[in-house]
Amino acid sequence: ERSKLHRIKDTHSATLDGEEVFLHANIEGPKDIGQVRAANADGVGLYRTEFLFIGRDTLPDEEEQYEAYKAVLKAMGSKPVTIRTFDVGADKALKHQPSRIEPNPALGLRAIRFSLSEPKMFLTQLRALLRASVHGKLRIMVPMLAHAKEIDQTLGLVDRARAELRAEGAKFDERVEIGAMIEVPAAALSLGMFVRRVSFMSIGTNDLIQYTLAIDRSDDAVVHLYDPLHPAVLKLIAGTIQAGVRYGLPVAVCGEMAGDPAYTLLLLGMGLRHFSMHPSNILGIKQQVLRADVGELAPKVQRILRMDEPAKVRDAVLRLGGGVI
Ligand code: PEP
Ligand code: MG
Repeated sequence: ERSKLHRIKDTHSATLDGEEVFLHANIEGPKDIGQVRAANADGVGLYRTEFLFIGRDTLPDEEEQYEAYKAVLKAMGSKPVTIRTFDVGADKALKHQPSRIEPNPALGLRAIRFSLSEPKMFLTQLRALLRASVHGKLRIMVPMLAHAKEIDQTLGLVDRARAELRAEGAKFDERVEIGAMIEVPAAALSLGMFVRRVSFMSIGTNDLIQYTLAIDRSDDAVVHLYDPLHPAVLKLIAGTIQAGVRYGLPVAVCGEMAGDPAYTLLLLGMGLRHFSMHPSNILGIKQQVLRADVGELAPKVQRILRMDEPAKVRDAVLRLGGGVI
């Protein structure tokens, strides 16, 4: 089965009716590049930078971060590399963080909230990212946004990093795009305020499902209630993808759903053309893309989005033909 998949490694990823689909990789650092190359990914759709320092005592300084970003950008050449700013807190706690009693870590000081509360640390990361941008095609992505002011403060810090680097005579790519992760229901329900401020969006379905259904994704006792096919979840995902089409902004999915072949046809039918996943899933997803006809899928998926009986939704998604759910 694996060697069969290997044969489509260099096949252009497009649907039967000629729609081009981009298959990107999720990585945790330069160590994953071998796998990304083996799968011939179209780019890196999510570089989880917090793994640079989770489990260590000290934060990486600007130089160490620069090297880690540069290594990935260089290895990917002209292919896009989407680097996410630190997503610490909740299930990805920092060792050096003074242990604060957090009643609800998933609802607490994590991701962009944490970064904005440590502006010096955040600025260091943004400087390292911009400096690395001369080595490839960098895009910067911001996790867990919910408020317009969080985007504005982030863009303000990016401008400050740019101004500092200019003053120092350091080179960077002026065209680096900034994008938003859509993983809080409030964000998925107020996309207008994002499309005015960012250049691309990426749906983090892992968190979007957790926050929509109020299910702690790390709590085994409620994991059976975690359901990507809940009608509320599907509406938020489809709405975000369609807003991207309407406003002409690229939208990706980079949560687990993007790497699960059971959901590929559903997502294609919603209009999704950018998928990012663990590199080991890329060829399996490509196989689904190659047999898909989006012209046929789109009306079927529109019907699924109008269903409000979970059993019917499940049955209809199964009948699209992606395999076991
Ligand atoms: C997500 O939430 O879907 C996501 C891709 O981010 P993470 O799993 O790192 O929180
Ligand atoms: Mg997330």
